[in-house]
Amino acid sequence: MANSILVTRSSMPEFDEYMDEIKPMWQSHWLTNMGPEHKTLQQQLIEYMGVENIDLFTNGHMSLELTLQAMNLQGEVITTPFTFASTTHAIVRNGLTPVFCDIDPVTMTLDTEKLERLITDRTCAIMPVHVYGNVCDIEEIERIAHKYELKVIYDAAHTFGETYKGKGIGSFGDASCFSFHATKVFNSIEGGAVCFKDKHLGEILYDLKNFGIHGPEEVDAVGANAKMNEFCAAMGICNLRHVDDEIAKRKKVAERYRMHLDGIEGIQLNVIQKDVKSNYAYFPVIFEEKLFGASRAEVFDKLAENGIGARKYFYPLTNTFAAFHGKYDVLETPVALHISKRVLTLPMYADLSMEDVDRICEIILSCKY
Ligand SMILES: *Cc1c(COP(=O)(O)O)cnc(C)c1O
Repeated sequence: MANSILVTRSSMPEFDEYMDEIKPMWQSHWLTNMGPEHKTLQQQLIEYMGVENIDLFTNGHMSLELTLQAMNLQGEVITTPFTFASTTHAIVRNGLTPVFCDIDPVTMTLDTEKLERLITDRTCAIMPVHVYGNVCDIEEIERIAHKYELKVIYDAAHTFGETYKGKGIGSFGDASCFSFHATKVFNSIEGGAVCFKDKHLGEILYDLKNFGIHGPEEVDAVGANAKMNEFCAAMGICNLRHVDDEIAKRKKVAERYRMHLDGIEGIQLNVIQKDVKSNYAYFPVIFEEKLFGASRAEVFDKLAENGIGARKYFYPLTNTFAAFHGKYDVLETPVALHISKRVLTLPMYADLSMEDVDRICEIILSCKY
């Protein structure tokens, strides 16, 4: 459709910039297996993200799944259903049992007031999710984890480049897992990373991403394959040069949306967290039909009619997936259920024009009557 606007648009460097970055590979023929691009990106990310340790993976999901495996956990993991399928699947695919905690209605991250009562003698870890770039209640999570000796693995897929109280967001918990998927604020086409505290955990993770191979004739562990290849790392290096500019542009888009939508009855906008340097990853809007005068579905359809893609994100909740055969009771997470039925994320990317934001808001507000 002419003038159609998708919900996101992947960041890409100039064609020539990427060509320059990958050109040496036509000399070296080194395409994967922790080559120079991989090493460079790894080092640059340590500096950019303000973390001590990082390892790179083929995607965000494998970073989550292998981090849980590396910790050799058993039993229950407390998490939230208001997330992408990946978080819950990483837990289940490790033979662990997800226990779903409800979310806070303002930050839409794990509600720490409901967390402690879910802890049993089988609980081994907490896997909170920094949703939409909103940072979890880090202090309270750390306090509870410390009290009950639980591991904390953050799904930090939405928070690339953020800081909390001036510290890199990847430096919290035992590990924080990032996604560099094409749709994220920072992408390496596909890619992921784990920031971790314990160097020994890092060694196990490395084994898990590279078959447990230590030398040409030495295999010490039973690993999988989740290495980031050189073309992806090169894309990451190029995109990293521009990510600050992109975040600044996203901020402008977010401010323009707020200018039109803030204070409108029946519309709840995302919280602005004072201790967080945001990356403006998403622009979620919650529609209360009774107050706004139109349902989420009506707004979604109206935008679609005009060639504008919004996304019901996150809907459905992971604890309602058919894959789980009714194993979980969605009524145990009522706030997450309420929000998942009402939220839309609006188009959000660096090059979205102010005129387009104006048009999107005009269409949304026209639904009100
Ligand atoms: C994108 C995403 C993932 C998975 O990352 P991939 O790189 O696509 O594998 C996991 N969790 C959340 C919250 C995500 O948004």
